Amino acid sequence: MFHIHCPYCEELREEEEFHPKGQAHIARPADPEACSDEAWGDYLFFRDNPRGIHHELWVHAIGCRKFFNITRNTVTYEILETYKMGEQPAITAESLASTEKLAGVQVAGGGQQTVGASDSAVKDSRGAKV
Ligand SMILES: [Zn+2]
Repeated sequence: MFHIHCPYCEELREEEEFHPKGQAHIARPADPEACSDEAWGDYLFFRDNPRGIHHELWVHAIGCRKFFNITRNTVTYEILETYKMGEQPAITAESLASTEKLAGVQVAGGGQQTVGASDSAVKDSRGAKV
């Protein structure tokens, strides 16, 4: 059991109240009619599956029912931050890499979430290419 911080409820809630919805920040092509089949197929079906920092769309399904974004480390399953729709992440793979180089240590995370040992539901439900 672990807790996820909902940026709308502004509190930590149990993971079972949330559902992952895939990769965040996927922009719909401005003019779908002008899209090539390949570009439209990329938009619909292909998702990043990085080792490390990943931005994901989640919904607080048994709560405020609002969508928000999570920055998660796919290696450690640690949730580094949560932020509202329309906002940009404070932590990116690039910013984390430069911070680690400067500090010479591994960044421990945002401190908003507590991650327990039994987070297998989260591990299995995301990260795969659609
Ligand atoms: Zn909420």
